[in-house]
Amino acid sequence: MSRVFIPQESQIGETRVAAVPETVKKLIDLGMSVMVEADAGRRAHITDEAYRKAGATIGDAIGWSDADLIFKVAPPTVEEASRIKGGAVLVSFMAPHRNLDVVRRLTERNVTVLAMELIPRTTLAQTMDALSSQASLAGYKAVVLAATRLGKYFPLLMTAAGTIPPARVVIMGAGVAGLQAVATAKRLGAVVEVSDIRQAVKEQIESLGGRFIELPMQETGEGAGGYAREMGEDFLRKQREIVSNHVAHADVVITTAQVPGKKAPVLLTRDMVQRMRPGAVVIDMAVESGGNCELSKLDEEIVTENGVNIIGIANLAATAPSDASLLYSRNILSLVSYLQKEGELRFDMEDEIADGTVLTRGGVVHHGPTAELMKGAN
Ligand code: NAD
Repeated sequence: MSRVFIPQESQIGETRVAAVPETVKKLIDLGMSVMVEADAGRRAHITDEAYRKAGATIGDAIGWSDADLIFKVAPPTVEEASRIKGGAVLVSFMAPHRNLDVVRRLTERNVTVLAMELIPRTTLAQTMDALSSQASLAGYKAVVLAATRLGKYFPLLMTAAGTIPPARVVIMGAGVAGLQAVATAKRLGAVVEVSDIRQAVKEQIESLGGRFIELPMQETGEGAGGYAREMGEDFLRKQREIVSNHVAHADVVITTAQVPGKKAPVLLTRDMVQRMRPGAVVIDMAVESGGNCELSKLDEEIVTENGVNIIGIANLAATAPSDASLLYSRNILSLVSYLQKEGELRFDMEDEIADGTVLTRGGVVHHGPTAELMKGAN
């Protein structure tokens, strides 16, 4: 019987947990036993008692070295990685390019790592897609956060004291987070304009009630796998010129633009922010990959001299820990259910999901780009 361990997250600000009572029950149904570290669910409002009722035992850090399977949200520290027994399986977000020392330690210890951000974005793997489940929540929370910071209504209101015009929201990047932000801002009644370099999203934006800002696309912004490709500085300059007027009249700007494996493009320069209205709010959701706004600072909220509030919170999903944990836990359960036979994980590397998601296995780094980075770092 595989023993699963759910540790308490140690990273500052990480409120999520990698299993909830619902998924604990299902893991037990698969023939696994589950130990949850005491207080692991506290920040997601799940008591030890609730885990116990679902069939888990409540343990302590001993689980790190005992377990066959460890489920985590944030990447482990080197010290945590050192406690995992050889041959065990770790399922977690890994941000491998930022955690090469952790990857090295896990490889040395012969730990199989399934990195949640590597799950292929395919129809078959949709239920396992933690990037999407967390980005969607983050997009929703970005709008809610902007609405709380903004000193005005979002909807158009006709009141006894006269009419209030709707808030104007500009969203840059219409991937999973951006589209959820469009939907949320529309539900709150704002006028929403959206910029993306993938023409394919125009229809999706319009179906949500947003307006697509047309760009002079000489060539496609579509890269491999439906993602964006990196655009040249000339194009980005033209894009900024066009978007600049929309931004100058906006009450809220939410930026989510990312290019896989690259620094995020700068879409909002200092000059553009200077032209914005006092009291306007910018939420830079790409802040961890270098930021879409020239002025945003990681995990800081700043107010510029002209009164623009720029918020650069990296982990917005963690501000909704209950649903973030529920969805993430279901993503892990779905992956583990897919890979297991009779409660034991099987790795058929011919399988697209296993092959795509395995970061390390058998003492080697299986993920090509990470292996390259590690060679460069040696
Ligand atoms: P992402 O986080 O990598 O990027 C966010 C958005 O930024 C993208 O829409 C991208 O086009 C945009 N962008 C990049 N450069 C830009 C620029 N200069 N200006 C404006 N926008 C810019 O994206 P994501 O949310 O991970 O989604 C990427 C794609 O993957 C989407 O097409 C999504 O529908 C698709 N997807 C498919 C599945 C599936 O099939 N199971 C699951 C999830 C996502």
